[in-house]
Amino acid sequence: MDMNQSKIYFFKNNRDNVYLYSGYTGLILEWDPRIQKHLENEEYDEEANNCLQGRTGDSPLSPPSLPIKPALEMIVLFVTNQCNLTCSYCYERASGLHNMENLDMETLKETIVYFIKNFDYQNRINICFFGGEPLLNFSLIKESITVLEEIGNQHDIRFNYSLTTNGTLLNDEIINFIIRHNINIGISIDGPEIVHDLHRKYLDGRGSYRSIIENVAQLANYCDITARVTITDYRVDLIELYQELENVGFSTMKTECVVNPKFKISSDEFQYFRGNLQLFADYFIRNLKQRKIVNYADFLAVLKTLHLGAMPKFFPCNTGLNQYSVATDGSIYFCHRFMNLPNFKWGDAARGLNLEKRNQFLKSHMVTMRGLKRCENCWAQRMCGGTCYHASQVETGTTAEMSGFDCEFRKAIYEKALYIYASLVDEEKIFLDNMDACS
Ligand code: SF4
Ligand code: SF4
Repeated sequence: MDMNQSKIYFFKNNRDNVYLYSGYTGLILEWDPRIQKHLENEEYDEEANNCLQGRTGDSPLSPPSLPIKPALEMIVLFVTNQCNLTCSYCYERASGLHNMENLDMETLKETIVYFIKNFDYQNRINICFFGGEPLLNFSLIKESITVLEEIGNQHDIRFNYSLTTNGTLLNDEIINFIIRHNINIGISIDGPEIVHDLHRKYLDGRGSYRSIIENVAQLANYCDITARVTITDYRVDLIELYQELENVGFSTMKTECVVNPKFKISSDEFQYFRGNLQLFADYFIRNLKQRKIVNYADFLAVLKTLHLGAMPKFFPCNTGLNQYSVATDGSIYFCHRFMNLPNFKWGDAARGLNLEKRNQFLKSHMVTMRGLKRCENCWAQRMCGGTCYHASQVETGTTAEMSGFDCEFRKAIYEKALYIYASLVDEEKIFLDNMDACS
């Protein structure tokens, strides 16, 4: 086996034992003389080969086919384009999306009924209220739940709800509403305060951190809240950040890197970030040994796929596959970050979704087509599926290329998740057996 060309990744756990992760089969093996002999072509070992490269005669997994009737799991609804903050890295502000437009009830109804009649779904559809700042159009969100329940009864379908908000407008009425309707909450916060307030300001220039944490403290008594952290400073101490968010009342932390040409990152800074990620991985392990789960969604999602096994990913996310975004005027886009860009509009309820455009996009964006140069021999490909289309677009000017930075970020998360997984003993992995999807 040519080790340089292979999708085998060698790594160590926290006791310095050597492991291999096979990018062909998704299996993790501990390094031993038998595997060494096999890999060094001294002694062919069928069993080792099956684990590392798949059974002899297995054909490589073929990419998914796209059914005529597209699947549907989630609709991201832009209930308003308005926002009461002016974040330094906002992609919506950059593309001129912040205006006074709101989604109206007729458009919402028409669009949801269009989706239900023309898409394939299981018995639940997730509705994500998004914006702008969605709570600036709380009256529509409130009314829409009654309307959606009626539509659900007519079509024998149930809806789950989530809300992505900046957290500044929560009040007693909204909090009661969230609890009553079991709405999943994600709040954008870039804490600690000094970092958050540098980037997430009100229109008059005041930082928004204080008002958010007061609101989170109230809401946290009743439901789980995910902190959606945009990392702008790669020197961030992830342990401190997690602890601070936990103390404020957040139950889960999810990170993403800032995607904006103004925020360039040097390779030194990224190395520093990797070091911090390593410390955070050790913190994760230490906590687990004391029976405490560190709810860092980015690690947990990978740990779950390592533990339960998963089909290889061909796309970076579900957008366009079974997730769509609806603009305030009812236009359907494949991803919420491409609103306002006519090339990325795929249709609307009146004219329907342009299936050819959608299928063409998906076929040409499978990682096996799209990442020929970068991804072909990457050990992480089956977990990754390529980089975020938006990160690609911003960094390279096209969704078709890979974003070098998002690629590095993803790989760093996979490496640390493998390190954690191989460092845990079997009893410590039990929590992964029944873990819900983290997203
Ligand atoms: S984007 Fe990067 S991590 Fe993902 S498959 Fe391609 S090379 Fe690997
Ligand atoms: S393309 Fe990027 S921003 Fe859009 S849904 Fe996928 S991961 Fe998120």
